[in-house]
Amino acid sequence: MMHQLTRCPKCKSRLRRYGLIQVCIRCGYLTRVGTVNLDSIIVSCD
Ligand SMILES: [Zn+2]
Repeated sequence: MMHQLTRCPKCKSRLRRYGLIQVCIRCGYLTRVGTVNLDSIIVSCD
């Protein structure tokens, strides 16, 4: 089963999915579907 978030862990907005990438359109949180270690690919969420 693929790991997939439905909500942004930062701002709780809905994530938008583009292929294997999920993006929060509100704060810019970026994650890849199927990745366990989410912290390694967070771009900017401060
Ligand atoms: Zn967010």
